[in-house]
Amino acid sequence: MKPAPAMGLMQIIVELKKMQSRAEAIRLQGQRLGCVPTMGALHEGHLELMREAKRRTGVVAASVFVNPTQFAPAEDLAKYPRDREGDLKKMESAGVDIAFFPTAEAMYPKGAQTWVTVEEITQELEGASRPDHFRGVATVVLKLFHLMKPSLAVFGQKDYQQLKVIERMVKDLDLDIEIVPHPTVREPDGLAMSSRNRYLNPEERKQATALIRAIQKAQELVKQGERDPKRLVEEAKKIIAAEPLAKADYVEVRDPETLKAIRRIERSARMLLAVRVGKTRLIDNAELIR
Ligand code: AMP
Repeated sequence: MKPAPAMGLMQIIVELKKMQSRAEAIRLQGQRLGCVPTMGALHEGHLELMREAKRRTGVVAASVFVNPTQFAPAEDLAKYPRDREGDLKKMESAGVDIAFFPTAEAMYPKGAQTWVTVEEITQELEGASRPDHFRGVATVVLKLFHLMKPSLAVFGQKDYQQLKVIERMVKDLDLDIEIVPHPTVREPDGLAMSSRNRYLNPEERKQATALIRAIQKAQELVKQGERDPKRLVEEAKKIIAAEPLAKADYVEVRDPETLKAIRRIERSARMLLAVRVGKTRLIDNAELIR
């Protein structure tokens, strides 16, 4: 009788030092490690990132850490969804080898005062209404990179500005880590998957499709030859304004690399938007033209 195939047993690590020594051992064996940082409450979007990392490296460490330093005092840190048991099952099903669950006390020991600030690219869009948000993101991602020692890390385009901030940090600080962007994973009606979607009541959930409908309208107009970002923003805002529970925070057309405003669409352009639906703030973005 043939022996049963070896089951890829997932290892759960909480301690920082243990994560580092495990990562070091993997490197010493000559294996490449892929990492996927998350804040948990995992959905299919997160799992796609994990599968992508697995395909590219063979060994995947995924972290779940609700990072307090990227939430403003009035934001939803305390009520951010947490589902450790569900997350573990999903990670295992996606082929994750190491589930890393550091604690906030270990990540930010008493007296911690060192930050990573990525400057220009963090000032607008998400940074405008969330001033210290990207300082928290860049700091925690750099710390996670030092703990998981990955060769490669997969980030979702869903959080497009975050992806660009991480790419900038990796370049500026000479990190030897390949950043792999992954397209936004969506529900069948186009709503970008997000841990925050579970806050939406049925009526809000319906109206939340305004984000993707606004983007699609802009894409359609560009296809028809419209080249004025102002016109695209106006039309997108109309779609959002038509939903009584939705309120646009920003709708912008930006250069996909620098995220700076553009006066006219010539080459590439991306629409980025943030919309409150009821009390839930949702973001989305997509390419308008390449
Ligand atoms: P979060 O747990 O929301 O901080 O997200 C962890 C990672 O998953 C980030 O790289 C996100 O961009 C990515 N992500 C979240 N939602 C999606 C989605 N719908 N599609 C693709 N990637 C996503």
